[in-house]
Amino acid sequence: MSSKQVNPHTQEERYRDFVSTITEDGKRNWIYPKKPDGFYYKARTVLSWFLLGFLFLGPFITINGNPILLLNILERKFVVFGMIFWPQDFYLFFLAMMTLIIFIVLFTAIWGRLFCGWVCPQTIFMEMLFRKIEYWIEGDATSQKRLNKQPLDREKFIKKSSKHALFFGLSFLIANTFLAYIIGKDELLAIVTAPPSEHITGLIAITIFSLVFYGVFSRFREQVCLVACPYGRFQSVLVDNDSIAVTYDFSRGEPREKVGKRKKDDGVVTNQMRNGDDSEVLGDCIDCEQCVKVCPTGIDIRNGIQMECINCTACIDACNEVMRKVGKPEDLILYSSYNAVKDGGKARFFTPRIVAYLMVFIILFSTFSYLLATRPSMETVILREPGMLYNELPDGRLSNFYNVKFFNKTFGELEPEVRLHTPAGGEIQMLGGGLAVPGQGSTEHRMMIFIDRDDIIGSDTDLEFGVYLEDELIQTIRTRFIGPGGSPNP
Ligand code: SF4
Ligand code: SF4
Repeated sequence: MSSKQVNPHTQEERYRDFVSTITEDGKRNWIYPKKPDGFYYKARTVLSWFLLGFLFLGPFITINGNPILLLNILERKFVVFGMIFWPQDFYLFFLAMMTLIIFIVLFTAIWGRLFCGWVCPQTIFMEMLFRKIEYWIEGDATSQKRLNKQPLDREKFIKKSSKHALFFGLSFLIANTFLAYIIGKDELLAIVTAPPSEHITGLIAITIFSLVFYGVFSRFREQVCLVACPYGRFQSVLVDNDSIAVTYDFSRGEPREKVGKRKKDDGVVTNQMRNGDDSEVLGDCIDCEQCVKVCPTGIDIRNGIQMECINCTACIDACNEVMRKVGKPEDLILYSSYNAVKDGGKARFFTPRIVAYLMVFIILFSTFSYLLATRPSMETVILREPGMLYNELPDGRLSNFYNVKFFNKTFGELEPEVRLHTPAGGEIQMLGGGLAVPGQGSTEHRMMIFIDRDDIIGSDTDLEFGVYLEDELIQTIRTRFIGPGGSPNP
């Protein structure tokens, strides 16, 4: 897509009819972004070191013996910042997800796709790891284009094979890191150090995941942000003219004109045409297209805020460099909103829409924080053994079998006690050892309940248990006791 397909002043929007990465005959238009450099690129590089360090070291960091993050879907065990969440905490998970979604909506309405350019793992892996390897081995954009065009000789073979070997190695490392967040580092180390023949299925799975990552970062690349990422697709409804994003200051930059056609005053580029009427004042944009050349999604930000823009700031750095060279003020491309650029003022943060989102976010976040802070220290589940009928004892009482699970949500050991509230004359007999539950752990026990025949009401009798910690009632549980004529299944 050429930048000449649009004139922002005539509001011609033909550029929206094209996708920068697809040619007119429907083929992939491979993007060769020029290596960025500048203040924002350096800042993003430093941030990426922290984020990558956190990602790769995360599985090895523990808090109170628990990993910092574990999403073990198979065993239904979730650890966030060292705190264990069990399936019984699903309401917290749901609320946390709702809060996160509103936060993303709020954040995006204010800052557009800032997350994509600075924090998103896809961008960080692509721009800060894979792309840097590519620049290191194949050189900048022009060298890459030349290499791709030349026939397969020794130089091309060595460069391409070493690049792809490194790409696959890195993809393998990333796949293993994500796996460590699912099964835990101990399990992963056990698999990695054991002979592959003992983990054939796991080896196949990790190879497939590695190949997927390799495919994404070596071929699919910016297409993830342009066509696959759902967050990217939502941009059009989340941002408005007050959203702050990487924006071209068209009121200052237009009408654009090349340096060669401008008058120079003592070698300094002016905003007057070389062979024109002095009253015709040009804008600051010298139409050098450096901002387009560095763009990893291949767009021209001068066409206006676009969904394809991942706010990576490469064009800001490129344009600032150009502005310094031609002796004009920086920030022709800057973080601002469309309205601020249009009116020449400052971007507005607190629009009515933002205030509404903020209020919903505060309500959800407060509710979530309250529920998290008051989460009971222990959760107990009592279920009658399925498929078992009642037993009749010689003294005339009836008994049922139950399964009891304790989930300790604190870091210390807890010793709960289960008491039968109703019927009052019933008796509990815990089978097995003591009831001590280790910190952040769970235990399972079997329990027998004995009830006098006089207390039996029909085929199903209501039971009420109390779970106590140091004589303090922390949970009340209701279940059923099956008598003559009752169903053996709960
Ligand atoms: S337009 Fe600028 S900020 Fe947006 S993706 Fe391209 S280079 Fe990055
Ligand atoms: S880098 Fe700046 S001066 Fe050059 S084309 Fe882009 S906006 Fe215009």
